[in-house]
Amino acid sequence: MKLYRKLTLVTAILGLVVPLLGVFAYVFINSLTGIPILALFLGTAVLIAIVIIATNIAAIVVAFYIKNTKLVGAILICCGIVLFLTVQIWGIPGLALYMLSGIIALREKPTPSARKYTIKCLTCGKELKHINYADFAKDHLADNPTHLEYRVFVEILFTT
Ligand SMILES: [Zn+2]
Repeated sequence: MKLYRKLTLVTAILGLVVPLLGVFAYVFINSLTGIPILALFLGTAVLIAIVIIATNIAAIVVAFYIKNTKLVGAILICCGIVLFLTVQIWGIPGLALYMLSGIIALREKPTPSARKYTIKCLTCGKELKHINYADFAKDHLADNPTHLEYRVFVEILFTT
């Protein structure tokens, strides 16, 4: 697994566990007391918890499903900023970890496009196809030492 994905996963899980416990505590206290004033006060806390949960889930989805690491990096940094704006000092660990994940994602080198090699033996007309490995025609040459002329076609497969 890529480092920025690991780090995002750890950050998001930590960021999810804490507010979830908060929501459970809220539901529990509310069912015990049933005082509407408490509900009004804690209503904001629940709203904050929802924002935190949504942000962390979004970070996981983005880190694992978006292939463009530049975009992933930018979104992860935004997730950190959203957390910080939502819970201020409590969001600092999340901000720091998402910043770090985001920067690692931004520095990630794009995965090289796969290359498909088609090598045609001009002596017997046999076509050999392979992906990311150009040396396989050697076997054909070893089996047929008189087949010396080949035509090579390289196709670059764009990975999205
Ligand atoms: Zn041949």
